[in-house]
Amino acid sequence: MATTPNGTSSEPARPLRILIIGAGIGGLTTALALRQQGHDIQIFESSKLAQETGAAIHLASNANGLLRRMGLDAGKIGGVECVGVTEYIPQTGAVKYQIDTSQMSKMWQHPWHLVHRAHLHTALKDMATGQEGKGQAAKLHVASRVQGVDAEGATLTFEDGTSVSGDFLVGADGVHSRARSSIPGGDKKPFDSGKSAYRFLLPTESLSSDPQTVELVSKIGALVMWIAEDRRLVMYPCVNKTMMNFVAIHPSKESEADITGAGWQEAGSKARMLHIYKDFAPSVLAILEKADESKLKVWQLLDMEQMPSFIHEKLAVIGDAAHPFLPHQGQGGGQAIEDGVALAAVLPFGTKPSEIKDRLQIFEECRYERAHRIQGYTRTAGMDTADLAAKGMKLDMMEYMGYNFGHDAWDHTTKALQKHLEARDKSLRFRNPVEFGVSPGPRRPLGMHPTSAEIHALRKGTPEKSRTYSIRFRTSRTYLQNLLPAGFAFTSPATVASASIICTTLDGMTWLGGGGYSMLGLYIHGINYTKQDGSKFFGTYLPVLFENAADPIITGRDELGMPKLFADIDVKENDGNKSSEISLSWRGTTFGTFTVSGLTPEEPVPNGVNGAQPVQRGPGPPPPPPEAGTFYNRYIPSVGEPGKADVEYPVFIPKPEAAEGTEAPKSFASKTATISLQGKDWQTLPTLHHIADWLAAMPMYGVEEAKLVRSIGVSDSGGARRLD
Ligand SMILES: Cc1cc2nc3c(=O)[nH]c(=O)nc-3n(C[C@H](O)[C@H](O)[C@H](O)COP(=O)(O)OP(=O)(O)OC[C@H]3O[C@@H](n4cnc5c(N)ncnc54)[C@H](O)[C@@H]3O)c2cc1C
Repeated sequence: MATTPNGTSSEPARPLRILIIGAGIGGLTTALALRQQGHDIQIFESSKLAQETGAAIHLASNANGLLRRMGLDAGKIGGVECVGVTEYIPQTGAVKYQIDTSQMSKMWQHPWHLVHRAHLHTALKDMATGQEGKGQAAKLHVASRVQGVDAEGATLTFEDGTSVSGDFLVGADGVHSRARSSIPGGDKKPFDSGKSAYRFLLPTESLSSDPQTVELVSKIGALVMWIAEDRRLVMYPCVNKTMMNFVAIHPSKESEADITGAGWQEAGSKARMLHIYKDFAPSVLAILEKADESKLKVWQLLDMEQMPSFIHEKLAVIGDAAHPFLPHQGQGGGQAIEDGVALAAVLPFGTKPSEIKDRLQIFEECRYERAHRIQGYTRTAGMDTADLAAKGMKLDMMEYMGYNFGHDAWDHTTKALQKHLEARDKSLRFRNPVEFGVSPGPRRPLGMHPTSAEIHALRKGTPEKSRTYSIRFRTSRTYLQNLLPAGFAFTSPATVASASIICTTLDGMTWLGGGGYSMLGLYIHGINYTKQDGSKFFGTYLPVLFENAADPIITGRDELGMPKLFADIDVKENDGNKSSEISLSWRGTTFGTFTVSGLTPEEPVPNGVNGAQPVQRGPGPPPPPPEAGTFYNRYIPSVGEPGKADVEYPVFIPKPEAAEGTEAPKSFASKTATISLQGKDWQTLPTLHHIADWLAAMPMYGVEEAKLVRSIGVSDSGGARRLD
């Protein structure tokens, strides 16, 4: 479980110092998950951790999957896979219903394990604090009762007056949490839910050797229940099926004489338990008779009002400290595990202390609603049948299970963090499909890439290069005029206009892993656009740009709105820099051929990608203002509404500044060039024939000049902006 470092700050990344209060299932899971993220963890536990809490726990798919991801396989610590549910009628002992979960279990991506609590606890402790495993071992301090929790200063104080500070605190100190009251409005007191539970374990053999109970363990692996009006007994296996775990939930007032305030270690009276279940079938009483009174525990099942929040400043409370659970759905431990893993997911290595508050907000968004919803389901699942009927409520166990089991707290929280990081950085670009996050491509800050060092090395070793052929020619303004959308106009009143065919080949492109591609477009010179506010822009208009690679077509169309189409572009250079032949085709059908010859070197003129500047040609009207960039029209058709655009607007790309590392371009000029454009039928150019026909019909009044410009360092079109 590890995420890549985020951000590009030069501040060296360091582990966060995290202090966890409590070494229960929640605290230890948090320690393990944060350790695997590379942080420096200390756990403070009030007890000596010598006494095991006894009895077993469900690890449903949602919790078990998280443990498996961290390397803890419940099957290897004696966990038994739950393969069925049987409910008996309490008074008669007859079967009420049976569900074979082997079918249902195929719905969940991780098995539903029944595991001894002590085994789970020990495995978590060993993995969090042991020398083996990813990250630095967490330090566990036992017999360290936390007295004071300062959320602002991330400081804990202990009974002996000493204190310790970190970057962040986790309150995993259970239902009677001290940390909870450091959250404004969080000083909640747990209260008796009205139910208590006896818990004990029996060797499976003691049931299988007794004729009264042998049938109950005939199908070990099933969850078995006897549910009466206001009391129930639940039985399931653990410890490689050698032990059976029992939970006997009943009205608290009937066992209150047992309660002394010893919490998890409260001893129960067997005689009282037998009395409470006296109306149950003989097979049930036979089970209860077998309980070892010296190990019988009774717990008041506590509930609590909702906390206003699980977080404050540099503190998060998790598990029972944040949302104590009744046992009716076996999700309390599972939710503590989800909390711990979600905390680790929002704090990948490289998170700075100053970012913790923001990250806790994401944790809260991911956990608050879910933990409370499962608490709500759990309360309903534990209601007496008469109360359910009186309130007109029904139990929908499939809905509950679907919601409880069908979640992965790591995946869910990781996505939430990704969205948060993306929303913060306004330089990030997205294209379809957006589900996978930021799109790689041109116009990305290199540092956002996880392997930016490799990208920089590639850029150094393989410089980005371009060579641009341009043939400027005279043509008909009235013909070209028809291409211009509203708002665009020729600056000169002359009916002879200038246009260029410009073909650029790029090579060594970092964003294409060092590869390249070619593009060829028609650029109409001497165009202006008048914005709705009256301001004017001058430039060339680009009605179509062909490219011979899919990636730049997609990024250029999506991000910049350029009118790009695919075509094969072949550039043949002869005699070094002296002449070349360019062809434009689609699947073997050529519809454009361009030649340039007699090129001779000229003084270097940095002239941008398009290579053409307006010049005064003889007497006549003054030259138009310099062309400051390129115009085009963005058009995105509407889905299911032919002829309608979802968006349509003019775009302007200013002439780019010289790219990083640019050397003075080498420029060559000639007056000798040819342009040959051929119209084709729809069979040979099925998707392009309308454009080829239009280009072929364009009047040609002679070539003005041709050029070749070779450059090192390629600018992108990141300055593109919408005009209106
Ligand atoms: C009868 C019953 C059956 C259950 N069955 C299931 C089940 O099948 N599946 C399931 O998922 N959940 C079950 N649960 C719920 C589950 O046991 C709890 O939700 C879970 O143990 C909570 O874990 P936690 O780490 O938040 O708290 P805890 O396990 O209570 O751990 C808190 C720890 O903090 C320590 N601590 C307390 N105060 C301080 C302090 N001031 N300083 C230092 N340390 C301190 C404590 O000693 C303890 O070790 C059941 C609960 C009950 C009562």
